[in-house]
Amino acid sequence: MRLCRFGDDRLGLVEGDIVRDVTAALDVLPAHRYPLPKADPLIANLERLRPRLLAAAKSAPAVPIRDLAFLSPVANPGKIVAAPVNYKKHIDEARVDPGIHYQKQIATIEQAGLFLKATSSVVGPSEGIAIRHGDRRNDHEVELGVVIGKPADRVSRDEALGHIAAYCIGLDMTVRGPEDRSLRKSVDSYTVLGPWMVTADEIADPANLDLSLTVNGEARQSSNTRELIFDIPKLISWASSFYTLMPGDVLLTGTPEGVGPVVPGDVIEATVEGIGAMKVAVRAA
Ligand code: MN
Repeated sequence: MRLCRFGDDRLGLVEGDIVRDVTAALDVLPAHRYPLPKADPLIANLERLRPRLLAAAKSAPAVPIRDLAFLSPVANPGKIVAAPVNYKKHIDEARVDPGIHYQKQIATIEQAGLFLKATSSVVGPSEGIAIRHGDRRNDHEVELGVVIGKPADRVSRDEALGHIAAYCIGLDMTVRGPEDRSLRKSVDSYTVLGPWMVTADEIADPANLDLSLTVNGEARQSSNTRELIFDIPKLISWASSFYTLMPGDVLLTGTPEGVGPVVPGDVIEATVEGIGAMKVAVRAA
């Protein structure tokens, strides 16, 4: 299934270049009251909902994709876990470019560990990126996004892929500077997820997906997830050795070489094989 959120918090099933509005199928989701659960209710119930979503799509009107404004496919991620320096050629470019490293030693992923981005930074492609600290470099990073489907607590490499609900395209936007990553990458709108999520059963091999990014049509990043230093099972296993990954948590797997600045007025187009493409406009906050 390809599931999107669009417009006024509608849920859609993507079929080719049309979307079926299947929001009505969500009526079986538990109605939550305070305190709210730590997992995203849609993702936590996704397998149970699947037959209802597919049934609802049969009678739902079709809307062309081009007419829709896409939101983040995950509405309430509990945490955004992100891998720094997880492509070899990106480490190389970071080490030679003072505009990236800011006189800090660029550690390997083993040394740097994973970092967290504020969930308030999450938007969908239709919301765009609002640049803050425009006097500094603000860089794009295209990444494969992994949506966790089942609680993962100290899982092994072999178990890891079974905990994935879906995949999406991710942009890990970054203000360059001397501060901690968790601050510079948590600006409102600096985590773009979309344009929809593709359930794990439709991605045969997440370790062999082309990903690319252009700015105003100019090629900037182009690689394949086979170049990941820590692959997806290792990232999930490692992360879950520290904290439990919950349904709806999103893992950003790292960006390949070619990161570079964007400024208000730019349009980013990001593509991941097997998922699709999303256009994201950049403006001043
Ligand atoms: Mn990144």
